[in-house]
Amino acid sequence: MKDVQIENVSKVFGAGGANPFTALKDVDLAIDGGAFLSLLGPSGCGKSTLLRCIAGLEQPTHGNIKVGGGPAKPGFDNIGLVFQSPNLLPWLSVLDNVLYPVRVKSRSLVKQYRVQAMELLEKVGLSHVANQLPDSLSGGMQQRAGIARGLVMDPDILLMDEPFSALDAMTREDLQFELIRLHQETGKTFVFVTHSIPEAVFLSTKIAVMESFPGRISQLLNVDFTYPRALDILNSEQAIEIEHTIRASIYGKTPVEVTTGEGH
Ligand code: ADP
Ligand code: MG
Repeated sequence: MKDVQIENVSKVFGAGGANPFTALKDVDLAIDGGAFLSLLGPSGCGKSTLLRCIAGLEQPTHGNIKVGGGPAKPGFDNIGLVFQSPNLLPWLSVLDNVLYPVRVKSRSLVKQYRVQAMELLEKVGLSHVANQLPDSLSGGMQQRAGIARGLVMDPDILLMDEPFSALDAMTREDLQFELIRLHQETGKTFVFVTHSIPEAVFLSTKIAVMESFPGRISQLLNVDFTYPRALDILNSEQAIEIEHTIRASIYGKTPVEVTTGEGH
């Protein structure tokens, strides 16, 4: 179980140019090994930028990020990535798509990882379509394959950038359960980006609420529900309280009300 330490991280795009833009400012965040941490905030508050910095795909302008005590660096070994769009290659089978990160690292490793890839497909309920092309799969199934691909190198940390945003509500709930199960089974550190407050509350052990201009963490909340989790927990007083706190942080007042005129 690897932790992630984000220390005083700022990211300025176009630093030194005419129009520098501060996407992240003074972000401090300790993500314990085995945590399920959600980054929650409006569009443009720097969630993807922070995730890319953790993955080593982007370098902070100031500050440090340590993954398991070492520097964040690009590569699929330590960190798995799952994106909003599954981006499966249409000419490769589902199995070969899951094996794609292995192939990028070294073709000679592909054979060795086949069993692990099949086990992952089994875990996410896709072993029966392993040899099909991705076009024949539903959106939810494609995203399951995307998650399996993120886990294929057995990373310590799985970073997910709004993986469920493009899915219909019911498929999304299905995948939420699946993700909690995978987190519990693997004990890995999950970092999950979402716009959805209930989704963050249902999935997480910790929520970092972010604000924009400049992108920063405005609040860090613990979510202490026990496992197994059922959707019912969202109706509990504790969950409602957490949601209120988050909305107050994002919208500046609580609860948010909509007033309707007479006769409506
Ligand atoms: P989020 O994922 O929360 O929607 P992003 O991390 O994608 O936000 O972006 C945060 C801000 O940084 C946005 O205003 C975006 O336009 C800006 N930004 C992101 N990447 C770049 C880049 N490569 N160059 C310039 N600005 C960028
Ligand atoms: Mg984003």
